[in-house]
Amino acid sequence: MKKTIVIGAGFGGLALAIRLQAAGIPTLLLEARDKPGGRAYVYEDQGFTFDAGPTVITDPSALEALFETAGRRLADYVELLPVTPFYRLRWESGQIFDYANDQAALEAQIRRFNADDVDGYRRFLHYSREVFQEGYLKLGSQPFLSFRDMLKAAPALTRLQAWRSVYGMVSTFIRDEHLRQAFSFHSLLVGGNPFSTSSIYTLIHALEREWGVWFPRGGTGALVQGMVKLFEELGGEFELNARVERLETDGDRVTGVTLEDGRHFEAAAVASNADVTNTYAKLLGEHPQGQAEGAKLKRKRMSNSLFVLYFGLDHSDGNRHDDMAHHTVCFGPRYRGLIHDIFHRDTLSEDFSLYLHAPCVTDPSLAPPGCGAYYVLAPVPHLGTADLDWDVEGPRLRERIFDYLEANVMPGLREQLVTHRIFTPFDFRDTLDAHLGSAFSIEPILTQSAWFRPHNRDSRLSNLYLVGAGTHPGAGIPGVIGSAKATAGLMIDDDARREAS
Ligand SMILES: Cc1cc2nc3c(=O)[nH]c(=O)nc-3n(C[C@H](O)[C@H](O)[C@H](O)COP(=O)(O)OP(=O)(O)OC[C@H]3O[C@@H](n4cnc5c(N)ncnc54)[C@H](O)[C@@H]3O)c2cc1C
Repeated sequence: MKKTIVIGAGFGGLALAIRLQAAGIPTLLLEARDKPGGRAYVYEDQGFTFDAGPTVITDPSALEALFETAGRRLADYVELLPVTPFYRLRWESGQIFDYANDQAALEAQIRRFNADDVDGYRRFLHYSREVFQEGYLKLGSQPFLSFRDMLKAAPALTRLQAWRSVYGMVSTFIRDEHLRQAFSFHSLLVGGNPFSTSSIYTLIHALEREWGVWFPRGGTGALVQGMVKLFEELGGEFELNARVERLETDGDRVTGVTLEDGRHFEAAAVASNADVTNTYAKLLGEHPQGQAEGAKLKRKRMSNSLFVLYFGLDHSDGNRHDDMAHHTVCFGPRYRGLIHDIFHRDTLSEDFSLYLHAPCVTDPSLAPPGCGAYYVLAPVPHLGTADLDWDVEGPRLRERIFDYLEANVMPGLREQLVTHRIFTPFDFRDTLDAHLGSAFSIEPILTQSAWFRPHNRDSRLSNLYLVGAGTHPGAGIPGVIGSAKATAGLMIDDDARREAS
């Protein structure tokens, strides 16, 4: 019996492979790299464990549902630890906002900035919950295959004023500029510019309030490992170091894949978790559909890239940076201007805003005793916006960020440095094969969302499917887990039809 093949073991590919295998469809998962996870890769270095990418785990219910599909319990594979506060936000003025789930504590924080905004925040929360209901719970894991699906969603999108930007919508409720930033930066977590991404992305606030923010014991990598274990227990086959070079076709059907090492696998169906533009332009580049879709996708607006700096510190001098939160957002001097530069300017700005990850606050086992593992990231333009030489810019930016952290957040950092490494837009392009080095795939603006986003099943090759950040609903772990559910639903139905015919 021919297998179904999933290309890529990111969260989307893994979740899809689990769903297919759990439904009795023999599945082969092929991953190009030497470890699973994709953007959630793990670096292990001198006793430090560095999660390469996602660290803010939201919507554990979607993960639980995934494990339940296979008759298992998530809790038997990985322990999720609550993170409090969700984030600490800090501005250069020294002001701090602890973004917590407790309504009274949150309102007390808001009051410190502007008492008049407490009422506005309550109305914003109500709005965000409505969007969450419509945009996430109802539509987040439904495939948008026809324009009719889009039309059905249109009344809700109109009522919720989805044409407004995240920042624009937040500003209708909240007046204080710090608070506007505090409640609008979230779309950046999935590659969305708060000044142009649809206000639908305010749902992230309600999602976090609904289910909290979590961190797996052992790091995000432990969650990835739990998913691999589940897939293999179900009988799924998984190969690492297996880069797919080409999709094989016969007319408008995919017949299999050929790997870079020359091996060939026949397939009943293929789903790609690889970069969506490169799935068409490279893997399907010899088929007219690959050429047409590839060219179309290259005209889409891509999300920004990221510069990520991982570092391990030895705290044996007694300076443990004890006042740090697990997640800290350090806002730079500019908000709107900086975001404009990241999405539109062809150079790197002098200033930056940072997200600082200190996982040992929740799980000290991620570093040797007396040490701490950290990473800090700065959103930066992708290679189509700013064609920078990251071999030069990377080390420079690393030093500027270390200077900044040492001066503002982590005094004595350089003295404590044991190890560090960087991941630049070049690495997104070369290691993850991400088009233009984008960190989050196609930019989540309204005209590139839902039906306007690449569909979960190709419109011409009826046994070719997509899963992951580049398809509906989009980037972020909840998004790609939702995309896996949408794609699995189509594949399981199509498989049943194939078997019956
Ligand atoms: C630094 C960073 C921080 C983030 N933080 C968060 C966060 O805190 N919370 C959150 O929810 N989201 C976060 N995100 C976003 C989230 O990580 C991604 O949207 C999500 O993990 C993408 O999953 P995916 O399924 O699209 O696959 P990817 O992770 O993109 O994986 C795709 C896989 O396909 C493989 N592949 C590609 N081409 C081939 C080929 N030809 N053959 C075989 N394999 C191939 C790749 O090697 C890769 O393993 C973050 C992203 C980054 C980069």
